[in-house]
Amino acid sequence: MMNKDKLIFATGNPNKIKEVHELLEGIFEVGGLQDIGCPLDLPETSPTIEGNALQKARYVFENYGVDCFSEDTGLEVEALNGEPGVFSARYAGEGKNAQDNMDLVLRKMAGETNRKARFYTVIALILNGEEHLFEGIAEGNLRHEPSGTGGFGYDPIFQPNGFELTFAELSKAEKNAISHRGQAVRKLVKFLTSLNA
Ligand code: IMP
Repeated sequence: MMNKDKLIFATGNPNKIKEVHELLEGIFEVGGLQDIGCPLDLPETSPTIEGNALQKARYVFENYGVDCFSEDTGLEVEALNGEPGVFSARYAGEGKNAQDNMDLVLRKMAGETNRKARFYTVIALILNGEEHLFEGIAEGNLRHEPSGTGGFGYDPIFQPNGFELTFAELSKAEKNAISHRGQAVRKLVKFLTSLNA
């Protein structure tokens, strides 16, 4: 099915690698950018989540000629007109960290009663030169304060629908079972396994 032994996950984000490896363990062998000598900092200049996912996968395919997939995620807050969205990684500015990004979201949401938010993920797969997209969405609400130490990014302020805990208070397996990334990865797996059927 694939040109090379491994399907390359085109990301430099170690948190995403951990989550995705757990989901694909025993199903597919996934390699990292270091396996093909590609720098970890991939271009991400598109105005949309889909565009960024495609841009990263295309960069790897065009420069290294390997089957690969990449992933882009944004937190979309209804009362902030979908912000931080595509700017999620650098919402508080370049060089700022996850805590700064969360603080900014909470500041902008001060006094706001509509706390609805969602994580939106797009996985872009390039297999034998063909592009395929897989989406995942996790709906929930923003807390007023961070809670929990698991996960990464905005997890401590995001409470998924149907739960009293934030993503950062759930175990990895619990988060993966319902998360945006988990859903998108399961669609990817279904597609890849259907090719082998
Ligand atoms: P990107 O997809 O690498 O552009 O990352 C977007 C940003 O969204 C990351 O820096 C994280 O802060 C945040 N993010 C992505 N996935 C998650 C998640 O599963 N939970 C919480 N925050 C996330």
